Amino acid sequence: MTAFDEELTARLESLRQQGLHRQCRVLDSAQSPRISVAGQPLLNFSSNDYLGLANDPRLQEAAIAATLRYGTGSGASRLICGTLEPHAQLERELAAFKGTEAAITFSTGYAAAAGAIVSLLGKSDFLILDKLVHACVVDAARLCGATLRVFAHNDLEDLERKLKWCAGKRQAGGPKPRILVVTESVFSMDGDQAPLRAIAELKDQYEAWLMVDEAHATGLYGPGRQGLVAAGQLTGRVEIQMGTLSKAVGASGGFICGSRALVDFLVNCARSFIFSTAPSPGVAAAATAGLKFIQSAEGAARCERLWRLVGGVGESLRRYRLADPPRSAILPLPVGDEARAVALAARLREQGILLPAIRYPTVARGSARLRLTLSAAHTEAEIVRLVETLKSTLTGGGLGAETRF
Ligand SMILES: *Cc1c(COP(=O)(O)O)cnc(C)c1O
Repeated sequence: MTAFDEELTARLESLRQQGLHRQCRVLDSAQSPRISVAGQPLLNFSSNDYLGLANDPRLQEAAIAATLRYGTGSGASRLICGTLEPHAQLERELAAFKGTEAAITFSTGYAAAAGAIVSLLGKSDFLILDKLVHACVVDAARLCGATLRVFAHNDLEDLERKLKWCAGKRQAGGPKPRILVVTESVFSMDGDQAPLRAIAELKDQYEAWLMVDEAHATGLYGPGRQGLVAAGQLTGRVEIQMGTLSKAVGASGGFICGSRALVDFLVNCARSFIFSTAPSPGVAAAATAGLKFIQSAEGAARCERLWRLVGGVGESLRRYRLADPPRSAILPLPVGDEARAVALAARLREQGILLPAIRYPTVARGSARLRLTLSAAHTEAEIVRLVETLKSTLTGGGLGAETRF
């Protein structure tokens, strides 16, 4: 073994000892509530495919039609010759859906966060993040070089302290530094919601900007299912709406929605947009089909079904410290210890249920959890089986007695 590989092997071993080693599991089926891993059929309660669109014939057909017409590769970055009609159509559809002047799409949500934050802020600016924002925002924060302040999760008093501190710094004369507050509308690992209206009021008071990541809310909340910004009638007050097309929308790609000026600025300055090849036209067409479905009467019914299932599971599992009532389709079952969470996930998997242990670095050390997500595509019988299996696995046997449920 080379010295290089020896070092990496030692580092991997250390991860193993901490219960933090990870591996990709390869599905030999499509993404759906019923999957197969190495020949084992599993009921999938770990996907973010909330509306069951990831394997929907309407999206598949849209992708096939665009692929037949425009090909598989986009050939270049968006600004060279990679902007094909499906990209333009997706951005028009997104802006109309979100009710904003304009929209810009990226290859992923990760790239959208990096593109926006790094282009909008520089070293002399301030960035204030909720403690639990997604890693893509944290990485973008490091990359942009702005002074970083983190406020306690959903804590308005702490946010105001941070805003006051930053605003104080900017009275020192010279050019006025920018202050950007970033939060999520639905938090990806806790499934709770941010107090968006109060945050918008605070950022106005301190003349800051607000960016809201709607990754887990787009397609799921409000009469038009645009997300929580629109549902709270805050569209005009949130400067930067971010999201992904990879969760409820059933395709892939990230987006930023907002004013025409914001989108034109990002087209010119967002490096993850400029220096990256445009996504395949088929993927863009699938996302457009997903957005169209979400806005249809059938989309409304599908979304209502999801909330019915969430309500039912929330009630059945209340004693396992689920949020009451759940505020999203993400229902984390807190465990704490990493090794215990992994052991519980393994026992569930033996019984045909995929409900993975989420550990550091996705969540803080010592706050490992089983992250349960529901999809409108789950059947009632599957939900019953989930609840029964969880009850017997979490409370019965040696492991259950030791858990913090
Ligand atoms: C998934 C996710 C992203 C990243 O989106 P991708 O399209 O998967 O890169 C960003 N923010 C949050 C909160 C997410 O959960």
